[in-house]
Amino acid sequence: MLQQDTFQHKGLRKKLVEEVEAKGITDKRVLEALLKVPRHFFMESGFLNFAYRDQAFPIGAGQTISQPYTVAFQTELLQINHMDKVLEVGTGSGYQTAILMEMKARVYTIERQRELYLNAKALLEEMGYHPHFFYGDGYKGVPSYGPYNKILVTAGASEIPETLVEQLAVGGRMVIPVGDDRSQVMTLIEKISATEIKTTTHGNFIFVPLLKGTNK
Ligand code: SAH
Repeated sequence: MLQQDTFQHKGLRKKLVEEVEAKGITDKRVLEALLKVPRHFFMESGFLNFAYRDQAFPIGAGQTISQPYTVAFQTELLQINHMDKVLEVGTGSGYQTAILMEMKARVYTIERQRELYLNAKALLEEMGYHPHFFYGDGYKGVPSYGPYNKILVTAGASEIPETLVEQLAVGGRMVIPVGDDRSQVMTLIEKISATEIKTTTHGNFIFVPLLKGTNK
């Protein structure tokens, strides 16, 4: 059963969104989505005090729900439009997925940890969100549904996976943190033509690693 979303939660959420806005996020549609999605639904009920802090938090299986500012930053860089076909690599808690769904994107999300995949699928469906869920190795993307207008990688990669660039539509944008296991540089890849990409970097972040293969 879903937790309640009370006035207290809504008040805390409003403050969090103001904090994220003060840190430099300007895309109103991103801020509105953050305001709508109850982040505490994605964390165990005992952790309400942490749900509305601008911090990452453990969600089990050694993984984390991304920091709200980071979620907002990646989403803003993607420039999400209505009906955009978006591939998300690393469903995790499903929080970022819900943000993309609120922005009326068509979302394809893949997770390599079976427990997280099952939990996120059950929760998001209960909340009324119906993206396409996949259990598998997102390093390879989901070519059968591509190409995608946007690709969002929510784990730190050691390099830009060529297979994902291939699944990006011309005119599309991919956002991926690239680096080692201590720190990654937020990287935006714009597909200019079938053979040309433009790469820009957007500051340092810390993510859990993008791993290969799946984990039962
Ligand atoms: N968007 C998530 C972030 C979760 S952390 C959220 O808001 O909660 C990153 C997630 O990427 C983890 O759940 C991890 O298991 C997953 N991951 C890592 N490597 C992956 C891969 N190759 N394919 C799919 N998911 C992967």
